[in-house]
Amino acid sequence: MKETQQAASVYQNVCRQFDKAADLIDFDPEIRKILGKTQNEVIVNFPVIMDDGHIEILTGYRVQHNNVLGPYKGGLRYHPAVDIDEVRALATWMTWKSAIVNIPFGGAKGGIQVDPSKYSHSELQRITRRFTFALGCNIGPEFDIPAPDVNTNAQIMAWILDTYVSTQPPHSRQANVHIVTGKPVESGGSLGRDKATGQGVVYTIEQWANDRKFDLNGATYFVQGFGNVGSWTSILLKPYGAKLVAVEDICGAYEDPNGIDPDELNEYFKEKHTLDGFKNLKKIDHEKFLNTKADIFVPAALENQVTSETASLLNVRVVAEGANGPTDLDGDEILQQKKIDMIPDIICNAGGVIVSYFEWLQNKRSEFWDLEEVDRKLHRLIVGGYERVRAAAKEYKTDWRTAAYIVALARLEKVYKERGIFP
Ligand code: NAD
Repeated sequence: MKETQQAASVYQNVCRQFDKAADLIDFDPEIRKILGKTQNEVIVNFPVIMDDGHIEILTGYRVQHNNVLGPYKGGLRYHPAVDIDEVRALATWMTWKSAIVNIPFGGAKGGIQVDPSKYSHSELQRITRRFTFALGCNIGPEFDIPAPDVNTNAQIMAWILDTYVSTQPPHSRQANVHIVTGKPVESGGSLGRDKATGQGVVYTIEQWANDRKFDLNGATYFVQGFGNVGSWTSILLKPYGAKLVAVEDICGAYEDPNGIDPDELNEYFKEKHTLDGFKNLKKIDHEKFLNTKADIFVPAALENQVTSETASLLNVRVVAEGANGPTDLDGDEILQQKKIDMIPDIICNAGGVIVSYFEWLQNKRSEFWDLEEVDRKLHRLIVGGYERVRAAAKEYKTDWRTAAYIVALARLEKVYKERGIFP
């Protein structure tokens, strides 16, 4: 999966991680060629009428990396930094993720290069509907199933669902509600999907703590990003007796060494749309934030946060990657030198796609599972993946990220060998 680009890119990181794992297990060179490329890349430029009547042309992406294990699956991101390179990387990570946790999905990702904070509610609705229309039959409930990611949520999924089914023949509309996951529960969503990624992060941290015989009661943690993944991870770690000591979002970084109540912070954020001004929070700079002395760091924002420039600042026992791609290869190396443990993204944040799979299954079977069932099944699948990664790290005497890739690649290689290449 060699990349020839000069500038470092997120996708280049994926390629280098892939090569490292593939070299170590002597991966089949022919299958390496297949997985080293994305299968389909769709770029759409589409017009949207703004509230004042003028038209903007927006650019959206959907990249489908691989579907040998099942339909393409992955989120949609609305962010100014969305481009083909980032979407390729995110799509590829989705393939590995589903393979590790043994769910029958392939990998895809998409998004729109847009700053959603600049648009009204009704403009965002029209942007979403027009993007869905532009994607047309490039997505589908048995073909490619989007979900929420950065700056998208259950409301946006509901608009996609409504637009997609409205463009289907009347008799097949109800049979298509599994076109997206992460929908509102009343519109066919699953209980537990909203918190699923954070819940999965916490289940993997719990496994790590068991392995290390480390008591989470009284442990300290800090979180970058207080959106879906960051806020739920923070909230769900609290019952273990762990203490949140710092948090950062797009507006800045804050600390309270005496402990921040994540439930109260979340309520405050929902009301004020900022972390600023909450109780005893003190604003700190980004370097001080990364240098926070704590047991656990959860990056839950964007890519390339732990790098050659920043990794040496970290002062923790473990990094649990809620975000996709928060650590680059140099960052990984520094963390290894510092003997900081790593729960890599492609297992740590797999709770989201696991519960998306449960939502998809419930829609297909016209079932509605209770939260206890969702959480129990999520726990089983994510812990299974975690254990496979741990076993591969031991067997190949390698770091956990490479081990996670090895688990994914071994499964994909087996399937390709069983099925062969058409014709
Ligand atoms: P979100 O939009 O709900 O939250 C993103 C958070 O990151 C916000 O708090 C935002 O303020 C913060 N942020 C953005 N830029 C920042 C910056 N430069 N510095 C600090 N904070 C910044 O998104 P999310 O769904 O929570 O996704 C977060 C990460 O988790 C992404 O990498 C995403 O791909 C990954 N992820 C999400 C899911 C899911 O189910 N939502 C599943 C797996 C992985």
